[in-house]
Amino acid sequence: MSTDTQKVGTAGRWTPDSWRAKPIRQVPSYPDETRLKAVEAKLAAYPPLVFAGEARRLKDHLGKVARGEAFLLQGGDCAESFAEFHPNNIRDTFRVLLQMAVVLTFGAATPVVKVGRLAGQFAKPRSADTEIIDGVELPSYRGDIINGFDFTPDARIPDPERMVQAYNQSASTLNLLRAFAQGGYADLHKVHQWNLGFVEKSPQGERYQDLANRLDETLSFMAACGITGETTPQIRETELFTSHEALLLPYEQALTRIDSTTGDWYDVSAHMLWIGDRTRQHDGAHVEFLRGVKNPVGLKCGPTMDPDDLIRLIDILNPADEAGRLTLIVRMGSDKVADKLAPLVRKVQREGRTVVWSCDPMHGNTVKSSTGFKTRPFDRVLGEVRGFMEVIRSEGAHPGGVHFEMTGQDVTECTGGAQAISDHALALRYHTACDPRLNASQSLELAFLIAESLKA
Ligand code: PEP
Ligand code: MN
Repeated sequence: MSTDTQKVGTAGRWTPDSWRAKPIRQVPSYPDETRLKAVEAKLAAYPPLVFAGEARRLKDHLGKVARGEAFLLQGGDCAESFAEFHPNNIRDTFRVLLQMAVVLTFGAATPVVKVGRLAGQFAKPRSADTEIIDGVELPSYRGDIINGFDFTPDARIPDPERMVQAYNQSASTLNLLRAFAQGGYADLHKVHQWNLGFVEKSPQGERYQDLANRLDETLSFMAACGITGETTPQIRETELFTSHEALLLPYEQALTRIDSTTGDWYDVSAHMLWIGDRTRQHDGAHVEFLRGVKNPVGLKCGPTMDPDDLIRLIDILNPADEAGRLTLIVRMGSDKVADKLAPLVRKVQREGRTVVWSCDPMHGNTVKSSTGFKTRPFDRVLGEVRGFMEVIRSEGAHPGGVHFEMTGQDVTECTGGAQAISDHALALRYHTACDPRLNASQSLELAFLIAESLKA
């Protein structure tokens, strides 16, 4: 077994449960320890959801992103839910990701690494432990893998059996995604069919249609030259990796296994795991857990991250400076990105560390609308992406990717965009159980903007 990740840092020897000795935030308190242990034991005997070799492949791809040779597209729901589990929802999210990837690959002539916030994105960090509605105080909802969304005392009790349901839902979601990616649905000859009903009629849909026509011509030309789906499988199938926040550590530990090929530990609940902005303390449980698994990892960097903190975290999470191991997911807010990001990039460049810089333009741009909804103005989302690209470039680094919350459904959760969703329109189709998501049309608009700015 390779031991580099196990010896490094000041934290001592790593084991899958060494996080248990560290201070931990954002943990549910399960009322019955025996039931929790029984579920952990059950999950520990279940098959892996992903394979270590796939996680290594993603790490290689992310290595290219770190070198500026590819672009990372990471997106999906804020939180998956048991109630919205439906093949159509999975398909619609997948096809918007495909559309965005085509816009970026074709528009910016850049290979795109696709990573879904999918098949395991269930646990949510909360800013408060309890929630008060009409004078009634109950524990906060922490995601379907922990407790229920209904505002009743029963629903809000953490139930370990929910982990088993989340595992099963992740397994069937992944099964469908693999079928979509490799079974013909993602064939580039189908680009026209990925245009969803409601998007087709929007300005973004028309723009996409144009691009799809040009792509068709290119494919015909390539076929005439002898390059087809037969000779080049990348034309008829694609790769989609999965990711989620590694928040609920009993679940993650139960799915952490030794890879028989390399003898290394992998968290086989997803290809990539990230640490949230609220749980990134260098001496805390979440950092401890992720330093020891070999998957590619992400680290959210919000406005309170300072350059020395960041280097300390990089030392712990990527001691051997491996390209593709660590993705910094920056989420400052459109008004702060210019000031807060530059010192981080400068420090990382000066220290010569290899990271992927990715922009999450969602989590620093959440506001309350005049009509009372938690929303994200589309202009601010775009503003943060633009600001991010400028800062990263002016510091001589590569803008590596984006991380965003979206859905394939025609929701009205983020204001603005070409559909000009107003504060009043938010009430029409506001479906999220957690944060407001870009709808398919807004997501495409974002992809076109990024493609333009990557070409520039
Ligand atoms: C999230 O990605 O859903 C999230 C909670 O992000 P952050 O940790 O950056 O707030
Ligand atoms: Mn979120």
